[in-house]
Amino acid sequence: MRTVDEHLAAVLGQLAPLPDLEVTLLDAHGCVLAEDVVASRPLPGFDNSSMDGYAVRYADVAAASEQNPVSLPVVGDIAAGSGGVYAVNTGLCARIMTGAPIPAGADAVVPVEWTDGGVARVRIDRAPAPGDNIRRAGEDVVAGESVLAAGVTLGAAQIGLLAALGKARVKVRPKPRVVVFSTGNELVDVGVTPGPAQLNESNSYALTAAARESGAIAYRVGIVPDDPVRLLSLIEDQLVRADLVITTGGVSAGAYDTVKEVLSRLGTVEFTKVAMQPGMPQGFGTIGPDATPIFTLPGNPVSAFVSFEVFVRPAIRRMLGVSQMYRPLVRATLTEPFTKSAGKRSYVRARIEVRDGAYMVAPVGGMGSHLVADLALANALIVAPEHVTEAPAGVTVSVMMLERRSP
Ligand code: AMP
Ligand code: MG
Repeated sequence: MRTVDEHLAAVLGQLAPLPDLEVTLLDAHGCVLAEDVVASRPLPGFDNSSMDGYAVRYADVAAASEQNPVSLPVVGDIAAGSGGVYAVNTGLCARIMTGAPIPAGADAVVPVEWTDGGVARVRIDRAPAPGDNIRRAGEDVVAGESVLAAGVTLGAAQIGLLAALGKARVKVRPKPRVVVFSTGNELVDVGVTPGPAQLNESNSYALTAAARESGAIAYRVGIVPDDPVRLLSLIEDQLVRADLVITTGGVSAGAYDTVKEVLSRLGTVEFTKVAMQPGMPQGFGTIGPDATPIFTLPGNPVSAFVSFEVFVRPAIRRMLGVSQMYRPLVRATLTEPFTKSAGKRSYVRARIEVRDGAYMVAPVGGMGSHLVADLALANALIVAPEHVTEAPAGVTVSVMMLERRSP
């Protein structure tokens, strides 16, 4: 029997980030940038107004006040996107809209709210400071400046910056494409009422969603019957679009444990017992001409889910090349006791919350690996070490956060 850490190390040792690829901007969302991005032009690209108002020469309006307003002829209207060349001579002004280029000669913009809004002539009741309401070319980004470094994960704001700089494509480490199968003759798809001894298949849905939450592009293939020939040919069919394959079910010691039977024969997937609860039977290896990595997870829904969190999520994160491979682990005070067997690391479904600035955690529901409703209530997993058998209320425990929480 392997420890969790040994199995995880064995898995991660066989994986590497995918080769760099140039993709369009929205496909880059969530990926790690694989190039340093240098701005080819400044941002803003030209001096422009940050307000709707009047572009003026400061000296002409410096004395303006409500008691002594200044009145100026308006020589033109400059809208955003206006390509005309405008200039404001002494004693004149131009109506200008947010984002429109500042005309030559103007050195401040008076907000429309400080004026009577005149079209041919305008009354100005307040003086701006020199340079007010002008966004200068290059004040955000200077041409030639390095704006994003390789290694950064591209979130919404980074995608926005790349777009603002006009970059249509960007070099990233691509998201792994993950194909998810489930096996079992007893399984029927959602939308079908299960017959006697049948159940609606859930693992492939949960794991496809989990793979997407981990940053992968995930495809759900669905149910494969416990038939060695069908299983093998379906896996082979899917390899063209897979950087990683996940199967569930069929890896225990039962008579119809097809996954184990088929893949053992190929000899590239190693089936191991891992000292964990739930999730003991694990398999990992490579398959096909490109040595595509494959996880064979146990079929019990909670075992499959926990196995995914413990082994597959870090694997996907490694393939993505992100530095944050693991879920955050926090220390929390246990509010309800639990017991476990010695010699295995337990992942106990739990709810964590913050009370008075401190993490408090309690197990939810039973230990059974089939209890999906309890799993759906959990927002964390208590990680109980191998040697522990009893965890009384009040002790500090390690908790894997399945969702973001801050104290
Ligand atoms: P197995 O690992 O194939 O022996 O399955 C263990 C248990 O998990 C059995 O009770 C199965 O019916 C159940 N199970 C296996 N695969 C799935 C699945 N994809 N969705 C829901 N339950 C499953
Ligand atoms: Mg089965």
